[in-house]
Formats: sequence, structure tokens, C-alpha cells
Amino acid sequence: MDQQRCPLCGRELGTVNVDRHHLIPKKFKGTEQFLIHKICHRKIHSAFTERELLQTFHTWEALRETEDIQAFIGWVAKKDPGFYTRTFSTNKKKNK
Ligand SMILES: [Zn+2]
Ligand SMILES: [Zn+2]
Repeated sequence: MDQQRCPLCGRELGTVNVDRHHLIPKKFKGTEQFLIHKICHRKIHSAFTERELLQTFHTWEALRETEDIQAFIGWVAKKDPGFYTRTFSTNKKKNK
């Protein structure tokens, strides 16, 4: 069986707390969706606005290069695949 991996954190996807993310938001005609941990999905949308996602972070590489996501990946690496919390801390992005 093909064990799918999360495109953000690289951990295996479990059977619970799995979401789908559109790299290009649906309202901008994005059709491709990716299975992703719910917690990783939540992280993406708490760290970036839709506009930022559309204009800059529409590739997994771009997302993973940000400090915020790197810190998140390091933190989530030791968690269970089905792990989910609503209370992880979100680093506020610096204003541009
Ligand atoms: Zn993940
Ligand atoms: Zn999403």
C-alpha cells in the first residue's frame, strides 16, 4: 500500500485529522488539492493570508523555506501523525 506523505512536514499521513489544501485557492481557479495533516493545514492558514498564499506561497518549497514553517516542522516532527491541537502558538509575522 502506498503510504502518503504530507507535502508540508514530510511525515506520513494517518487516517485521522487529514485535510486537503489547495495551493492555489479555489476562488482563483485552483483545482489541484493535496492531502495534508490537519495541523499542517491549520498552520499554513494561520501563518499566511490568502493573498500571500496566492502570490508567493503557492509551492510547497516556498512554504517550507519560511522561518515560521521551518520552526513548525521541527516542532511537529516528533508528534503522532494523527496529532492535532488548536492551541499551538502561532508566531506573529513581522509587518513588512
Ligand atoms: Zn504534515
Ligand atoms: Zn488550505
